[in-house]
Amino acid sequence: MVPPMRVAIGGVGHESNTFNPLYTGIEAFRIVEGEALLEEAAARFLVGEGVEVVPTIYARALPSGIVKREAYLQLKDELLRRLSDVGEVDGLCLFLHGAMEVEEIGDGESDLVKGVREVVGEEPLISVSLDLHGNIHPSLIETADMLTAYRTAPHVDAAETRVKAARLLLHSLKRRVRPVPVMVKPPVLLPGELVVTDVDPAASLYSSLNAIDRTPGILDSSLLVGMAWADSPQASASAIVIADGKRNEGKAYFKACKLAEAYWNSREEFHFEVEAGPIDEMIKLAKSSSQGPVFISDSGDNVTAGAPGDVPLIVERLLALGVEDAVVGGILDPEAVRLCRDAGVGNNLKVEVGGKIDRVNGYPLEVKGRVLKLTDDGAVLRAGGVDIILTSRRRGWTTLEAFRDFGIDPAERKIVVVKLGYLTPDFKRVAKLALLALSPGCTNQLIERLEYKRVRRPLYPLDKGFSWRPPEAH
Ligand SMILES: [Zn+2]
Repeated sequence: MVPPMRVAIGGVGHESNTFNPLYTGIEAFRIVEGEALLEEAAARFLVGEGVEVVPTIYARALPSGIVKREAYLQLKDELLRRLSDVGEVDGLCLFLHGAMEVEEIGDGESDLVKGVREVVGEEPLISVSLDLHGNIHPSLIETADMLTAYRTAPHVDAAETRVKAARLLLHSLKRRVRPVPVMVKPPVLLPGELVVTDVDPAASLYSSLNAIDRTPGILDSSLLVGMAWADSPQASASAIVIADGKRNEGKAYFKACKLAEAYWNSREEFHFEVEAGPIDEMIKLAKSSSQGPVFISDSGDNVTAGAPGDVPLIVERLLALGVEDAVVGGILDPEAVRLCRDAGVGNNLKVEVGGKIDRVNGYPLEVKGRVLKLTDDGAVLRAGGVDIILTSRRRGWTTLEAFRDFGIDPAERKIVVVKLGYLTPDFKRVAKLALLALSPGCTNQLIERLEYKRVRRPLYPLDKGFSWRPPEAH
């Protein structure tokens, strides 16, 4: 009897915002391993196909600053150790992000996959799943055999993409064909909020991938927007096409060029999906709206794109403009939470809120307010017509549940401020109006205002008025 195929799964996923001054330590990562990792949809798919799946570790963290060298090496060593313990495998399925930047090492994914290759040898096929916001380094394309990225932003196809990475791997293993991925990088770096995949021109570009996939000799295609708030040489969009074997490499390269050119040609057509403008203008629009809740994204300090989430500027403006019935989710400030706890529920205090981590874009804001609620890791402080959620741990604001933890139902408020960019499906459902405040911060949408030193130039929109054509195939 032929023994079943063996496939190892695992990965390290991180979106690193290099403008965030706070580096990311090991405590930020949540690790899934063993039986729990076999619950992953991609693993279940492989098991269903009769494959023996061997789990390693899958570590993920909320987007944040550059990953500390020792934290990354700890995760890498653990993954490689487990990989060498499991013995020979036919293939690997690695779940990565694509925009992990490691202190003193640089591109994390390239380093990790290189390490994996050294452990397993040249023979096993390596299939990688990526976030659409990955900044892909050419060496990753050389080490991995297949790479496939999400096709939706906001992301609703993450698990589906990991299953696809597994399916591509199995397909190639069964047919004993080594795929060849090719990549063309158009010199365009757009903030994610400009590329919402059900809005044109992104919608058309992403639907064009289906036609590429159906081309004989092509296995799969991906279009990555990249991570705009990463000052690294590989930061840009990427068009990736996977050739079914070496003999189809030329065809794949041609398709990747066409896709990259289409993205380049559309660069000036991308626009915000919702009304966007300066903070005060957005607050005034929200105030004058007859319906609520109006969601305002404090987009310059978007936690889900790696900003600290402690810039209090929008709170200052809400108070200055005298809004009623607003809630801010949230400001990271363990010290302010502690002072609220010392004061106790129902009591008044004067406290400096936020502005302690991102000191480039914020400064501590003195607020006089009353403590409405205390939780395990936060407090709600009412100042004027604004309920400010303060947290002692950094957290993303992507679900209604996140507010309910603090006894707040956003659906019942007039104005809901979130440290976010485009709204998640959960928020979209209840928002009567969505506005994007173009606020300063580590995820400033106007990326020309940030100081880039390491990206390759020219790069649109930092540079304009230059022309570009895909490089000649070699
Ligand atoms: Zn993403």
